[in-house]
Amino acid sequence: MRIDLHAHSNASDGTDSPAELVAAAVAAGLDVVALTDHDTVSGHAEAAGAVHALAPGTRLTLVPGAELSCQVGGISMHLLAYLFDPAEPAFARERELVRTDRFRRGRAIVERCRELGAPISWEQVERIAGDGSVGRPHIASALVEAGVVASVSDAFTADWLANGGRADVRKHETDPVTAVRLVRAAGGVPVFAHPGASKRGHTVSDEVIAALAEAGLAALEVDHTDHDEPTRERLRALAAELGLLTTGSSDYHGGRKTVRLGEHTTDPAVYEALVAQATGAKPIGG
Ligand code: AMP
Ligand code: FE
Ligand code: FE
Ligand code: ZN
Repeated sequence: MRIDLHAHSNASDGTDSPAELVAAAVAAGLDVVALTDHDTVSGHAEAAGAVHALAPGTRLTLVPGAELSCQVGGISMHLLAYLFDPAEPAFARERELVRTDRFRRGRAIVERCRELGAPISWEQVERIAGDGSVGRPHIASALVEAGVVASVSDAFTADWLANGGRADVRKHETDPVTAVRLVRAAGGVPVFAHPGASKRGHTVSDEVIAALAEAGLAALEVDHTDHDEPTRERLRALAAELGLLTTGSSDYHGGRKTVRLGEHTTDPAVYEALVAQATGAKPIGG
């Protein structure tokens, strides 16, 4: 069983459509893939349709999910949520709040980039983002198009879009303890995404992780491309101490990142344990 529980489509800042992501998951030899777009479930229906339309004999299980933008003590962090009821109003409202503020903040970032001499426009960013939950990676692609930087990752530096960078503007992000409770109340299973991704900015303390565990966190995403081996060992020890499961996933973004689908995977027993905790939705297909 090859299980990848973290992937983005163009419903947020990935480049594959949800249907293309399903096809890519089959091509990568995955048995299970989770669709976890930032602050949105708008790709779920298309991905589910693509799973149902797979040729006979081709099997893939889709885990509908999302990755919620959170912030605690000024530190941004991401919470993965699986198999929640997308119609549950409190969590749906919170996703909507974050998505709406992404537009205000996106315009402000474009304005900052222009003040700093980058010839990009909001219309260009809107074209790149399409219907996707708009974010810094779309603005990064605009900076690449304009020849300001050579690659999306080159846009995530202090000069431009990195956390605290010259053109970074904060967005509304949910308190993570509140977020964990919202996900559970919607029947979902919350997992802390890349908790040790220090190259993106400050990471939260073990005390915060302990508080999240207390609030109902299910697991830490340990095997992730942004974690070096000592970080993984430290997180595995912390998870054991706090009674949390550990997952591994690619955080695939199509062409916007170099990581491949299935580059990191989750243990089947852990996957089964996560699914057993969910009451808001069921895995699709497979
Ligand atoms: P936003 O959600 O708009 O705040 O942007 C955060 C997103 O930017 C993350 O989900 C990643 O996809 C991407 N990102 C963050 N740091 C980097 C980086 N160093 N290189 C490439 N992409 C990054
Ligand atoms: Fe992303
Ligand atoms: Fe993330
Ligand atoms: Zn992600």
